[in-house]
Amino acid sequence: MMRLDYLDALNRMMESDMDKLARWKKEEWNINCEWVIGTPGTAPGLGYLTTFNTPKFEKYPALGDFDLIREYLPYARKHGIRVLAYLNMHWYSYDFGKKHADWEQRVEDGRSYGSVHPLYGSGTTFCVNSGWRNWAFELIEEAMKTGIDGVFLDGPVVFPECCYCASCREKFSNKYGGEVPSWEDWSNPLWRKFIEFREESMADFLRDARQAVKRVNEEGVIFLNGGAWWPGSWRVARNIEKLSEYEDFNGAEAFFHPGSQNMPLIFWTLEAKHLAAKGKPAVVFSHHALGSWHYVPLPRFEAEISVAQTVSCGANPWFAVFDYALDTRLEDALTPMRSILGFLSRNEEYYTDTVSKAEVALLLSTQTSTFYLSELRELYLDPGTGVERDLRIEEGTGQRKTSLKARKAICDEIYTNSILGAATILSRSHIPYDVILDDALAKGELEKYSLIVLPNSACLSDEQIRSIRGFIEKGGSLLCSFETGCYNEYGDHRLENPLWSILGVERCDGMMLPRVGEEYMKLADSKEKIFSMPAGALIPRPVYSLKTFSKQDAATLCFFMNPIGAYYSAPRGVSNYAAIICRRHGESRTIYFSSLVEDFYTRYRIPDILQVYADCIRFATRKPPVVEVEAPDTVMFEVREQRSTGRILVHLVNTTGNMQRPISSITRVHNIKVRIRGSRPRKAFKLSDRSMLPGRELPDCFEFTLDSLMVYDVIVFEP
Ligand SMILES: [Zn+2]
Repeated sequence: MMRLDYLDALNRMMESDMDKLARWKKEEWNINCEWVIGTPGTAPGLGYLTTFNTPKFEKYPALGDFDLIREYLPYARKHGIRVLAYLNMHWYSYDFGKKHADWEQRVEDGRSYGSVHPLYGSGTTFCVNSGWRNWAFELIEEAMKTGIDGVFLDGPVVFPECCYCASCREKFSNKYGGEVPSWEDWSNPLWRKFIEFREESMADFLRDARQAVKRVNEEGVIFLNGGAWWPGSWRVARNIEKLSEYEDFNGAEAFFHPGSQNMPLIFWTLEAKHLAAKGKPAVVFSHHALGSWHYVPLPRFEAEISVAQTVSCGANPWFAVFDYALDTRLEDALTPMRSILGFLSRNEEYYTDTVSKAEVALLLSTQTSTFYLSELRELYLDPGTGVERDLRIEEGTGQRKTSLKARKAICDEIYTNSILGAATILSRSHIPYDVILDDALAKGELEKYSLIVLPNSACLSDEQIRSIRGFIEKGGSLLCSFETGCYNEYGDHRLENPLWSILGVERCDGMMLPRVGEEYMKLADSKEKIFSMPAGALIPRPVYSLKTFSKQDAATLCFFMNPIGAYYSAPRGVSNYAAIICRRHGESRTIYFSSLVEDFYTRYRIPDILQVYADCIRFATRKPPVVEVEAPDTVMFEVREQRSTGRILVHLVNTTGNMQRPISSITRVHNIKVRIRGSRPRKAFKLSDRSMLPGRELPDCFEFTLDSLMVYDVIVFEP
């Protein structure tokens, strides 16, 4: 999918040769679906103007009588491009806002959101519970009447600190029988209801908007910008679990932004997996812009990687490119898309009807990202950075965050890091995984997995815990960490964590003083070979670690050392606190890390932590995987199966670059080994040039070698 954005210069589209334009998009950009602007997302907030003719709405003046959508549509169809209208549903000028003051979103003191936080510098926004909704539904119907295939709604957004308009206040008190609580008042029990209310208001809006589409065209599609995986989506009332039911596709923004802290290598991979989790067609919006410099295209390799990571995970690519960028840098923008989308276009039959063959599931718990507010007081202590410079080490200040709002921000950051850490370790260790969401865990939709990973999945319902127990009884394994299961789905602290008896945790005596540096864990002796590092090895202790004791019937794989509490001081021997606890349940295994190990990995990237964590995952999954790969850890690897043909498709994305982002050069990787178990594939070839791969039979598998990989390729195993 593509959007060519003209911003305020829509006349440039009007004046172009429509036939040539559509052919160019099909043949050069290789797209088969396009968003054409229906209402512009342009300063100073022109979302109330249409680009198509309708007696019911105001027309974008520069277009005169020219109907941008109806004029373009036949040419798009002729060249095999589906057309969706982009409808901006969140940005309105102050002038338009003034005419509809009762539609505006309001902050608690009654001021309109736009007057407090001008949108993109100027403009305001409307409320999904106000009279605006009917205006919006009518607009959607009018857009559909142009004959398009569907609509994409950019917005609405329930903005942070909103909404306290009269409609919301009334709807809330009718439903919950109380006043709308103050913004982020975590001490008010109704606050959590208000979070839900905002998300449900969004879902209600989308449900009715969908009906507006279907009234005109039963086959018409609708979707919106559904919110990325990052914890914190609750602030803008985006919850894929609630929205998915009313959308035809699940899509969300994953825009590149320069600055490596924003951009883990798995950036698009994780979003694609998140959006694909609901089983609907997923669309990753990767933009083709250098962050907020919209008129500079994404650097070539970043653009190619964005698409490659997206399709490797079974999702669909989307990009926007700006006319102003094409004016001066057309080839920079076009070259990577022609290359990667051309590849997809030539090989389309290998991308349809495929399912992930991952045997590991990673829970992305919206409940935890929304409601996790840890009761561990030490979590809010400033641990310092541990950085040694100018003959001193920056230690913690001992200051503690006290406001619940500040604590929630810390918990959001910790959960973000926990997900990123687990996903990064899985990816770098070449262990394919799927993202699952709360609902799938609650319903026990886990049959295809041999292991579920719950990185500090603090907020779990009783139903989810029952389902985890059932999964283990049926032979599945579990790896989890820190406060997993300590709270219910609304973040209420449990008196006793029901997972502890399963995990082999005897008790927890609170938390060790958080500290960066000079604290250690020690790998225990074990009858079984689990770790690639020798027993007794000292490894860095995660900053946030619990004083946990293991039960008699469980094995402690790793102990914490007694706290040293100072730098350049001698170790003080092994403590009784268990750092990693393993318990067997027949064939199943549970592994519990009593620390924020994934968060620690995200922050410090210590190779020992990756190694120990990956060793535990391999130990817990027991069986060797059906497909495995031997390649540098910057080569990403996904396995999919085509249901209709039984083909196994091994996607390889090479992110081995010049050690920083944006990646401006890729290093070609050689001699990648791919091993497959089971019966010998009839054919093994690489999709880029259909060349057969040399293979050999090993004792328990068949091994094929890919001589070299630049950015992306797929190895096809024909059954
Ligand atoms: Zn409202």
